Amino acid sequence: MKNQFQPLFDSQNKHFHNELKNSSINERIKKLKSLKNWIKQNEKLICEEIYKDFEKGKEEVLLSEIKPIIDEINQNVSQLGIWSKPKRVETPLAFIGTKSEIRYEPKGVTLIIAPWNYPFNLCIGPLVSAIGAGCSVIIKPSEHTPNTANLIERMVTELFDKKEIAVIQGNVEVTTEILKLPFNHIFFTGSPQVGKIVMKAASENLTSVTLELGGRNPTIIDETANLKDAAQKIVWGKFLNSGQTCIAPNYIYVHENQAQKLTEQLIEQIKIQYPKSDRTRTKIVNSNHFSRLTDLLDKTISTGGKILYGGEKDEEFNFLSPTLISDITIESPIFQEEIFGPILPILTYSNLEEVIDTINKTEKPLALYVFSKSRKNQNYILDNTSSGTTAINETTIQFAQTHLPFGGVNNSGIGKAHGEFGFHEFSNLKSVLKQRVGLTTLKMIYPHYTNFKKKLIRFISFRL
Ligand code: NAD
Repeated sequence: MKNQFQPLFDSQNKHFHNELKNSSINERIKKLKSLKNWIKQNEKLICEEIYKDFEKGKEEVLLSEIKPIIDEINQNVSQLGIWSKPKRVETPLAFIGTKSEIRYEPKGVTLIIAPWNYPFNLCIGPLVSAIGAGCSVIIKPSEHTPNTANLIERMVTELFDKKEIAVIQGNVEVTTEILKLPFNHIFFTGSPQVGKIVMKAASENLTSVTLELGGRNPTIIDETANLKDAAQKIVWGKFLNSGQTCIAPNYIYVHENQAQKLTEQLIEQIKIQYPKSDRTRTKIVNSNHFSRLTDLLDKTISTGGKILYGGEKDEEFNFLSPTLISDITIESPIFQEEIFGPILPILTYSNLEEVIDTINKTEKPLALYVFSKSRKNQNYILDNTSSGTTAINETTIQFAQTHLPFGGVNNSGIGKAHGEFGFHEFSNLKSVLKQRVGLTTLKMIYPHYTNFKKKLIRFISFRL
C-alpha cells in the first residue's frame, strides 16, 4: 500500500530540486525574519498554548522556549553569509595545479521529530537550522503537547507553503509511517529508546541522522566548591520545567565533608526559588509520567532511600514538589534511569577517582556538571570523562550558548545542533576539486610504470 505521506514528500522533493536547492542566502534570511516576526507578534499566544499543555509559566516560556529561538535566528541572520560561503582548503604539493574547496549544499527533504518537554523550542530550533541550510522540512511535534503542536501547525501554515515546510501531527503509528520515507536527513530529539527505532528506520534509506537524546547527567561537588553558589545553580537547573529537561542534573555526587552543608543550602534554595505557597509551576506533563515518577519515588524509599525534602504530590494536578533524596547507592533503582522529573538524589563520596570510575561504567551522559574551585579537579574530571557537554560551576545554560555545539555522545546522541553546527547538520559538505586541463603533475605517475615512475611514486608516497 502506498504511504499516505508520499504525495507530500514528493511535492517537497520536487520543490526542493526546482527552487529551494539554489535559494539565495537573502531569501533564507527573509524566511527566518518572518518566523521571528511571527513569534514576536504571537508571544502571548505561544505562552497561552504552552500553558494549556502543562502549565508552564510565562517567564519559563520566554527564557526556555522563545529566547533560544530568537538567539538562533539572530545568529543565522548575521552569520549565514559566512557559514555558506565556499571554503578554500590548502593544496598538498602532490596536487599542485589543483584548487579545492568545501561547498555547502542543502541536504534536501528533511524530517524533524520533537519531544514534549520544550515543545516549541525543540521543534523550531532545528527548523531554523534547516531553513538556514536551505532544506525543506516535515515537522512532527509531540502528541503529548497537543496545544503547542496545533500552534506550530498554524504558524507554519501561515508562513510557508506545504511543499516547503509542513507539519504532520500524530502518534507512534503516524511517525512510523513517516519514517518509511526516504528523507535526506532526520533530526530527532527524544529518548535513546526511540532514537534507536528512528536510526533503524533511517538505515533502510541510508538517511543521515541527528539524534538529540537523553541521559543521566552527573553533578559532582568537590570539597572546594562554594556550596551556596552551587545550590542556587543546581536548584535552578534541576527544577526548571519541573525537572523535565534533558540536561537537568540527574544526581549529585558530593564530597562527604560537604554533604550536610550542601543539603541545607539546597533546601534553603528550594524554599527561596519554589516556595510551597507558590503552586504556579510547570506540571508533570501527563498522568503516565506522573505515575512513573511517583512509582520511582516509592521504589527508592522501599529500597532504603530517604526523602530529605519535598515529596508532596497531587495526583489530580500531576503535581510533584521539588524533592531531595539521600541514602541511595549506585544499585538503587533511581540511579539506574534518567529521572526526568523534580527528584534529585544525593550520593556522597570520599575518593574522586571512584566517582569517575562509576560515571565511566554508565552510558555517556548528555551533560556533566562540576562544582569546584580547584583547577586540578576540574581538569581531572574533564580529562577522564566523556559527555556531550560539560559545565563547570554552572548548570543547563550551555544549551543556550549558540556558539557551542549542542548534542550528546553515543547513548546521549549523535551529531550536534545550534548555530554553525546546526547549519552543517542540514548541509552536505561537498568536496570540490578543480584540475587544470592538459598538462598536470599527476599524469607523470599514470601507468605504465617505468623505473623512473616507480621511483617517483616511492618519492611521492613518503616525501610529498
Ligand atoms: P520520546 O522518545 O518518547 O518521543 C520523542 C518523539 O518521538 C515524539 O514526537 C514521539 O511522538 C515520537 N515517538 C515516540 N515513540 C515512537 C516510536 N516508537 N516510533 C517513532 N516515533 C516515536 O521522548 P519524549 O518523552 O517526548 O521526551 C523525553 C526524552 O527526550 C528524554 O529522554 C529526554 O532526555 C530527551 N530529550 C533530549 C533532548 C536533547 O536535546 N538531547 C531535548 C529534550 C528531550
